[in-house]
Formats: sequence, C-alpha cells, structure tokens
Amino acid sequence: MKASMFFWSFILLFFWSSSSQDRFQQQRENLVKNQLIPRGIKNKAVLEAMRSVERHLMVPKDVQKHAYEDRPLPIGSGQTISQPFIVAFMTQAIQPEPGMKVLEIGTGSGYQAAVLAEIVDEVYTIETVEALGKKAEKTLTGMGYKNIFYKIGDGYHGWEEHAPFDAIIVTAAPEEIPPRLIEQLKTGGKMVIPVGPSANQHLKLIEKKKNGKITSKELLPVRFVPFTRRDN
Ligand code: SAH
Repeated sequence: MKASMFFWSFILLFFWSSSSQDRFQQQRENLVKNQLIPRGIKNKAVLEAMRSVERHLMVPKDVQKHAYEDRPLPIGSGQTISQPFIVAFMTQAIQPEPGMKVLEIGTGSGYQAAVLAEIVDEVYTIETVEALGKKAEKTLTGMGYKNIFYKIGDGYHGWEEHAPFDAIIVTAAPEEIPPRLIEQLKTGGKMVIPVGPSANQHLKLIEKKKNGKITSKELLPVRFVPFTRRDN
C-alpha cells in the first residue's frame, strides 16, 4: 500500500514537473512568434537565445506567471528586468557572433547577460547594486552559465582589465555617453546605449569605425532606469 502510494506520487510529480516546464517553453515560443518576429527581430541566433533563456527563473516568484509577457517586471531594489523585445532588439543591434567578447553595464536580473552568453564567447557584466549583482551571479551560475564574469561597481568606468570589447550594451540611461566606454570599444565595435533624462530617452547605436570615426544613430525612444554614479 505504502509502496504503491509512493509510486503514484512519483508519477504525478513527474508529470507535473514536465508539464510546467512545457508550459514555459510554449510561452517563450509564443513570445518569439507573436511579439519578437512581428516587431522586426530577424537574427536567428537572437531568436534562438530568446527561445532558450528561462526568464521566469530571474524574477521574483509572485511575478513568475508574467515572465513571458512582453514587459519589464520589478526585481527588487527599485530596479526592473528589461522587456524581452528590448533585450532582443539591443542584442540584435550589436550583431552578436560566436567568438565575441561583450561588456554589459547594469546586470540587474541577469537576463540580458544570459541572452548574450547563449551567443557570444564571453560576457563581462557590471552592476552597481551589490544585492542585485550577487543574486544574478548566483542565479546564472545555477543555470549553468560559465562564460559570464561579474563585477560590482560603477559601470561608468567600464572594465579596463578586459578591454577592448567587440560590443557594449548599456541597460541604464546616462544623460551623456560615458567616454571610457567608447575608449574600451574595439575598432569596428558597436555599443547600444539609452541616453537622456527619463521622459526623453533614445536608444543609440554608437560605432567605432575603422577610420577612427565615431558615429551615432538613434534607434528608438525607450524608457530605462537612470544610470547612477558612485564615488569610487
Ligand atoms: N540588464 C538588466 C536590466 C536591469 S535595469 C536585465 O536584463 O535585467 C538596469 C540596471 O542597471 C539596474 O540593476 C541598476 O542598478 C543598474 N545600474 C544603474 N547605474 C549603473 C552603473 N553606473 N553601473 C552599473 N550598473 C548600473
């Protein structure tokens, strides 16, 4: 009697866990099909990464059911996990390829870092709020990512020891582009960064051309949390 109850609970648990896994997988597929592709995300590697990264593991339990809606969600410390479309759009804008080394400013939940880590070789990510940075490191390590490197600090200074980078993604909005980030970009490299005060921000694509020229192109109006400064 006891043994058969144990057996049936095991079977039930098995089906319950595999169906909840499938539910999220289907929700990710719907997000890709209904939101990302219609809004112009074409890069195959980016779409594949958006299909695989488990965003529900990077948000608090009470908002997990909204994890695959195309919107930002609160993650604590007054910060948010970026909207999936914006993560896909910024990732596509740097034209990610295997072999690349990318710097991200604003680790937050770790979602953008995970999407990048699915495609490029190395992701360096900096977060100014220690509690968030440590939590993201724990989550991403638990998810098995071995090509993400973490730092707590002010991303204004970039990460000199590992520069130059093939690309830089900034996920908090400064009023001006931090000059060291441009310095730490490789020749031929690209940076996407939201710039401006909260009511009037634009996502910009900065390119360091082979002839040394820096070009800047406005991509879309956005709303990111402000880029905060530390004294160190
Ligand atoms: N990339 C994150 C988005 C998080 S929101 C994600 O995918 O979830 C932006 C993050 O930038 C916040 O966590 C905020 O604390 C952080 N941030 C703001 N100013 C910063 C700075 N100067 N250096 C590093 N991180 C910063």
